Amino acid sequence: MAPRFPFSAVVGHDDLRLSLLLNAVHPAIGGVLVRGEKGTAKSTIVRALAALLPELDVVPDCRFACDPANPDPDCPDGPHAVGNDRRPSRLVELPVGATEDRLVGSLDLERALTEGVRAYQPGLLAAAHRGVLYVDEVNLLHDHLVDLLLDAAAMGRAHVEREGVSVSHAASFLLVGTMNPEEGELRPQLLDRFGLTVQVLASRDVSTRTEVVRRRLAYEADPAGFAADWAEADAELAVRIVKAREELPNVVLPDTELRRIAAVCAAFEVDGMRADLVVARTSIAHCVWRGANTVTEEDVEAAVRLALPHRRRRDPFDEPGVDEQQLQDAMQQAAAELEEPDNDPDDDPDGGEAPPDSRGPDSQAPQQQPQPGEGKAPKEQAPAAPSSAFKARLLQVPGVGEGAPGRRSRARAAGGRTIRSSIVDGHGLHLVGTVTAAAPHQKARGRDGAGLRLKGEDLRLAVREGKEGNLVLFAVDASGSMAARQRMSAVSGAVLSLLRDAYQRRDKVGVVTFRGTEAQVALPPTSSVDAAVARLRKLRTGGRTPLADGLLKAHKVLTVEKLRDPRRRPLLVVVTDGRATSARPGHDPVQDSLKAAALLANAGVAAVVVDCEHGPVRLGLADKLAVALGGVCLRLEQLSAERVAGVVRATRAA
Ligand SMILES: [Zn+2]
Repeated sequence: MAPRFPFSAVVGHDDLRLSLLLNAVHPAIGGVLVRGEKGTAKSTIVRALAALLPELDVVPDCRFACDPANPDPDCPDGPHAVGNDRRPSRLVELPVGATEDRLVGSLDLERALTEGVRAYQPGLLAAAHRGVLYVDEVNLLHDHLVDLLLDAAAMGRAHVEREGVSVSHAASFLLVGTMNPEEGELRPQLLDRFGLTVQVLASRDVSTRTEVVRRRLAYEADPAGFAADWAEADAELAVRIVKAREELPNVVLPDTELRRIAAVCAAFEVDGMRADLVVARTSIAHCVWRGANTVTEEDVEAAVRLALPHRRRRDPFDEPGVDEQQLQDAMQQAAAELEEPDNDPDDDPDGGEAPPDSRGPDSQAPQQQPQPGEGKAPKEQAPAAPSSAFKARLLQVPGVGEGAPGRRSRARAAGGRTIRSSIVDGHGLHLVGTVTAAAPHQKARGRDGAGLRLKGEDLRLAVREGKEGNLVLFAVDASGSMAARQRMSAVSGAVLSLLRDAYQRRDKVGVVTFRGTEAQVALPPTSSVDAAVARLRKLRTGGRTPLADGLLKAHKVLTVEKLRDPRRRPLLVVVTDGRATSARPGHDPVQDSLKAAALLANAGVAAVVVDCEHGPVRLGLADKLAVALGGVCLRLEQLSAERVAGVVRATRAA
């Protein structure tokens, strides 16, 4: 195998390199999340790190990399005889498609079959102990695996309870994740479990770009020669890491700087106390890395820049990335609180953090145009400001699907938990489950040849259940009857809350609007909830209510989407007061709407009608629509989860 691209030969990417090195010095910082578009060499840099890490002393034959000087007393391979091996630190990669077995380990089938014992086969968490665990495209990893991963990272141990095996082993590793935000965001609650976050951008500087290409070409022409040229520089870094680790306990964190850290974190409005700890640890590592032994403002500032941006309490729809100005403000506010008038605004390290696409609101102008000549339609109204968002009630697609991993509806999923196993009729037999059940009994059953001695009681069907994301298509009535200012504001607030919910559940979303004489696809199904929010924020209202057209348009969108992504089950959310008033000449608007609804029902689309009717006289049209759709009807006020105890299954049971 060709040698890896050397760490020292990386041009630019100062923040990323610094973050990795600080974690190498002080793994308790908690890892690095690297955000950046494709083609920014994120993975190359992360993989290059492994070569810098010091060699490990390990107990020979311990599969859990016990340190001979301090073996894990609970090591599954222990207790250990005296002995010592040396090997390089490992960088273990967790593939996005990995199973839970692969990550945490599983029953060792071979030993179970040959020796009749329930032995444990370690997974990647064990392999990564005392090394680096790298997850490329961490944002695409199944939530269930992310939870397991982050729990292990936080505790430094892995606990495995499955298939009759109960094991706990040390799993302390430097966690590095890379992601391309264009492919979907990491859930906010996972973001802050990474110690540091770095935004990686391709340099715009010509000489930097030139040098990047020059080195890349040189490496590709002669990987071994290139690596040899940089071996000395890498070796120096490696030595520096070892020295810094030794010096780490001697670093002093003065009270002033500790107070500064607390003040910055408070001013920056972070959640909880984790941020303060991470900044403190990073400051200490930064101090020792630059060869000093007392933390100063310089160290805190560097730490704040790497550790805080992703921890700011934010709405999922805020622009991701860093607001450099807010960081500066927080630093200055902290400095003022410490009564140090030393405000030097030019001291700003050039983080280059501006999000590449901080587009103005105009770049996503709605496709719909004002429609002139629409006879007696009421005047069009400008968008109403949404009322404040709330935690949306959980709307689910009934039944069990097989769609892409997410967090909305029930699904059979490779990554889910085994919820039951049963004796089956030969169909859907779960081979591994069956062999696993039979394995420990082979010796007792007197197995002597190659064949497995199976009994009926061994047969297993593992039924796994997880959660899938859905396609949530909103059909929003923007007609005049909905347009009363306050009403529309409540509607936008509700829809935004549902969108926020969709974002957290990894749904795809689409928006159809209808008003005047026609329906429009305001947003084709996309994984970008931000785009949906932008469209809805600009929703204009007024005119008649072509409800039937809206439903037919939704049907069309769902039909196309079914071809494109057949396993992703749709949930149609119709937001309307049900007062259909516009139809083709000679047609009855209400009858047409009910026919369109029946069409959707026949296509098996799960639907929820959000009834926006108001006023003293209620016509109950939304209810009728819901019945025709075979779905449920919720009043606008019923959408807030806070008014419903626990999680409510809003749609009918399948
Ligand atoms: Zn061990």
